Amino acid sequence: MEILLYTYSFALGLLLGSFYNVVGLRVPKNQSIIFPASHCTGCQRKLTPLELIPVLSYIFLRGKCKNCGGRVSPIYPFVEITTATLFTISPLLVGWSKELLIAWALISLLMIIFVSDMAYMLIPDKVLLYFGVFFVITRLFIPLDPWWDAYLGAAIGFTLPLLIAIVSKGGMGGGDIKLFAVLGFVLGWQGILLAFLFSSFYGAFLGLIGMIFGKVKRGQPMAFGPYIVLGALTAYFFGEKIVNWYFTSFIA
Ligand SMILES: [Zn+2]
Repeated sequence: MEILLYTYSFALGLLLGSFYNVVGLRVPKNQSIIFPASHCTGCQRKLTPLELIPVLSYIFLRGKCKNCGGRVSPIYPFVEITTATLFTISPLLVGWSKELLIAWALISLLMIIFVSDMAYMLIPDKVLLYFGVFFVITRLFIPLDPWWDAYLGAAIGFTLPLLIAIVSKGGMGGGDIKLFAVLGFVLGWQGILLAFLFSSFYGAFLGLIGMIFGKVKRGQPMAFGPYIVLGALTAYFFGEKIVNWYFTSFIA
């Protein structure tokens, strides 16, 4: 029967991923996330139920609006597939436990932030606030060990990027700092340090590749959010394994 649970997780991830595209695009513009219904951004035509099917509609329409021919961003199916995949592998990593609720919420937060930051280079406060409150409440019932690790993580998550922002004179935005604080609450102190390390590594590595291929110019502002998303996911799901591997391979 487990296969059924994984199938449900995947389907839920697809549907929610589709919704997170809407949330990530609308919340920064202070638009309602319910009305108006999804429409083509080119011709404003309301999408038919078939066009709302995650991923498949994008493939069948070859990423174009069938009315105006306007291009549909590949970010839509990417977010849908990524949310679904992460929802499905979460129980393999944290088990069918209470923590799965936190894992899915974390994935949800990160997907919305990814959409907003890719579209507007902005991490919306409202999203951070709602998820922050959700995590503070749920961590009362699903605590880290020890329980205060969440608060220490949040403190470090806030202070470390703030110091870097001061030293680098704005190398890190206010949204990034607040996001790290929320992530620290979920990950605890070790997890947030790892998330910070991984995000910086991904940013430097992919930034370098971008420069080599001439896609990124030196000094050009870039959204750091997607790297934080990637770093936080790595730290949350694999942090402990990576630390253990590191200590057994290099220290002992
Ligand atoms: Zn259109």
